[in-house]
Amino acid sequence: MTSVGVSDRLTTGDNVMPRKAKKDLKKALTRRLMEERKLVMKRLLLLRRAGVETLAVPEEEGRKGDLLDQAQASLRKEVESAIREQLLARAASLERAYRKLIAGTYGICEGCGQMISRSRLEAMPEAIYCTPCQEKKENTGRIIRATG
Ligand SMILES: [Zn+2]
Repeated sequence: MTSVGVSDRLTTGDNVMPRKAKKDLKKALTRRLMEERKLVMKRLLLLRRAGVETLAVPEEEGRKGDLLDQAQASLRKEVESAIREQLLARAASLERAYRKLIAGTYGICEGCGQMISRSRLEAMPEAIYCTPCQEKKENTGRIIRATG
């Protein structure tokens, strides 16, 4: 009695994606992730520098500055801090994805454990959920039961 079934199909499935292609994809994604991370960090740095310049108003000028200037400055500060928060969130996501890459779990959805589609990862290297899980998360606002 020979048992050719599920396990056999799994082995074949594994062979469909050669190790080299898998490695190349990982390499390409690693590069993208690093580049995105660098870009976000650079933007944060530029923003910080611009922010310092805005805030460092010499005393003399500060006294002369009218209400409009002050209003503009505070508005700019608000916008900057909003952008900064967004960038920080992005940096955190990229960092998390990068750590998953090192751990060897990159590309695996944290919601259902399935592989996240390649096109999604290419469009959004920091994605940690597959599209259906992300949609579910956004619709219900509930986090899918964490594994472990
Ligand atoms: Zn999922």
